[in-house]
Amino acid sequence: MTRPAAFNGYADPHRHAAGLYIGGNWLAGDGIAVIDPSTGDLLVEVADAGVDEALSAVDAAEAAAAGWRSTAPRERSEILRRWFELMRERAEELAVLISLENGKALADARGEVAYAAEFFRWYAEEATRIGGEFRHTPSGAHNILVDHEPIGIAVLITPWNFPAAMATRKIAPALAAGCTVILKPAAETPLTAYAMARLGEEAGVPAGVVNVLTTAQPGPVTAAMLADPRVRKLSFTGSTGVGRTLLAEAAKSVVHCSMELGGNAPFLVFDDADLEAALDGAMIAKMRNGGEACTAANRFYVQSGIHDAFVEGLAARMAALKIGPGYDPQTQCGPMITPQAVDKIDRLVADARARGARVVTGGDRLTRDGFYYPPTVLENVPTDAEIAHEEIFGPVAPVYRFRTEDEAVQLANDTEHGLAAYVYSRDIMQAMRVGRRIDTGMIGINRGLMSDPAAPFGGTKQSGLGREGGVTGILEFLEPKYFAVEF
Ligand code: NAD
Repeated sequence: MTRPAAFNGYADPHRHAAGLYIGGNWLAGDGIAVIDPSTGDLLVEVADAGVDEALSAVDAAEAAAAGWRSTAPRERSEILRRWFELMRERAEELAVLISLENGKALADARGEVAYAAEFFRWYAEEATRIGGEFRHTPSGAHNILVDHEPIGIAVLITPWNFPAAMATRKIAPALAAGCTVILKPAAETPLTAYAMARLGEEAGVPAGVVNVLTTAQPGPVTAAMLADPRVRKLSFTGSTGVGRTLLAEAAKSVVHCSMELGGNAPFLVFDDADLEAALDGAMIAKMRNGGEACTAANRFYVQSGIHDAFVEGLAARMAALKIGPGYDPQTQCGPMITPQAVDKIDRLVADARARGARVVTGGDRLTRDGFYYPPTVLENVPTDAEIAHEEIFGPVAPVYRFRTEDEAVQLANDTEHGLAAYVYSRDIMQAMRVGRRIDTGMIGINRGLMSDPAAPFGGTKQSGLGREGGVTGILEFLEPKYFAVEF
């Protein structure tokens, strides 16, 4: 399918190329090429902000801060609720836009828009429930009163793999808490961020409360914002490597950090698992977004008794997927984000093969326009292969065989990451026991999809700091203030 010549409403990329959104103004610019990964063609250019524009965004966020923190929680809540409603009304247009700039299959893009919008609904509800504490000192002689205040101006940095959801998962709790924000989306997928900013304007978000800027120099631009004493919070989602750099940068001015970083999720299948359910879960955990998800199953550990049937079933399902442009409604596996992403996947598969892995399906890059890699299943993968230790971020499922529960737990924990893990077993006692022994922030028990706006999302080890979503997500944008009160 070739790309349609025109797209309706918010799906039209040209509509979002107006440029930076600072203090309620749209500032035209260019310099960042947004590419359609389905073809490799240019979609549009967007503005490339420098340090001056970034500091104007901080000025705008500062100018709006006092008004927003004193806006009644009910009113903040209603604005977020309207933003949710507008996203739902424009859901199909937003989904097409995401597919266009990110490449993901339309079904995945629709899922992302629904998930992303739910953060506005959830935090519209949480905005009116920000609590405090009152207690007596143990001696009984004094009182402790704790208020939760907005933490201050927040810089939000998001990746390209969920251009809508990673932004709303930060904007919604920040605004609910009473903070003003500067969003820096990934340069690969800026259009969705700008489209959502327009919807925020329509929903009644006051000028300067949400600012959006795109830049081709994220290092110096972010450093300048973090060095500004008015910025008190950095919320970052992206790779562990960039997260480490930003933690060091934030340390210079002791800026509060939330970090949602990379993953290397193990997917464990025990002998007594329901095979069909495990295969259904595996397809979701592996293939949502074509494998470009931080929670993506990166290592399949399958017990000896069910191993061969699992490999056969997984290979059949992977081989049947229809590859194509994300915006073609028939597509089940879209392109990767960049040619470099395809090169990396190819390198990991070549390394595994060189070490003795067998390709069950896929395994060779495709010769067609766009940045495609075919759904691939590998078996007999040695555990020292690079693919066992790096995020694949693509449609490749390496399968490893294990014999005992202890061995499975040891293999699952053999990583610096600790974001997500999956366990399939009909024996719920075993599944929970194994789940407790795996060092991750999230565990799917007989489920291949765990993301839920009402649940705390985040990782242990080098997968991050803090949690997004759920009742605790808003705490990342609140600072406790203790009043020692004599009365
Ligand atoms: P990335 O780290 O390359 O980029 C993420 C963001 O950081 C982008 O906006 C990018 O422009 C910006 N950035 C890059 N270098 C920077 C610098 N020096 N200073 C400031 N900002 C900088 O990650 P990516 O390739 O866009 O996304 C994929 C990664 O994100 C994967 O590792 C994935 O696991 C992770 N991820 C994690 C979660 C989570 O919730 N834990 C969710 C989605 C993606």
